Amino acid sequence: MSYAFEPLITAVPIIDSHETFPVRRIYCVGRNYAEHAIEMGHCEREAPFFFTKPADAVVVNPKSIHYPSITNELHYEVELVIAIAKTGFEIELSSAWEHVFGCALGIDLTKRDLQTEYKKKSRPWDLAKGFDQSAPVSSIIAFKEFGELNEVKLQLSIDDEIKQSGNINQMIWSIPEIIVELSRHIELKSGDLIFSGTPSGVGEIKKGQTVSATMNAARFDLNLNFTVY
Ligand code: MN
Repeated sequence: MSYAFEPLITAVPIIDSHETFPVRRIYCVGRNYAEHAIEMGHCEREAPFFFTKPADAVVVNPKSIHYPSITNELHYEVELVIAIAKTGFEIELSSAWEHVFGCALGIDLTKRDLQTEYKKKSRPWDLAKGFDQSAPVSSIIAFKEFGELNEVKLQLSIDDEIKQSGNINQMIWSIPEIIVELSRHIELKSGDLIFSGTPSGVGEIKKGQTVSATMNAARFDLNLNFTVY
């Protein structure tokens, strides 16, 4: 038997490797930084939660992104993206790091006006989060290059003006805790990407503006730069 048409596989380059990382699923953590939860009008003590994006929402190191005409309020959210490369269900905290392949820098693009409207109507907000090109990511840096990550700086600028500045040490759920929590719901598998949540300072990106994001740790720097048109 053969496929009626070529199956679509979204793959992310791995830094210093000839291999690429084939994406299976994208999970995202909502409100994983207290300051961001507060700016969204929520209590900082509430536990974070998960939502998803389709695998092919990923765009790798884009130079431009199309502004979707169905929204009037496209928002940026800079995030560390965890790349999973070991299957596991109900993973223990002590072994959570073993499931991490590496990480990337990502932007969780959001149609905020639609999300707000769907929330008000108690409807699913999938399409406010999981649309085409809604997950720009950098190349992945492999875990073996840096070891366990506890301090990583994230920054995002719009047209050279700094809008978001944070560190993953401010996350409510740490990287291992995210893995433990998510694997209580589903079996994590190789190829899964997890957007780990955004620091405060989210806001609008308008047509013609340029997003510049950086992620720095002691042993690596990743960046993303694209214009929305
Ligand atoms: Mn997000």
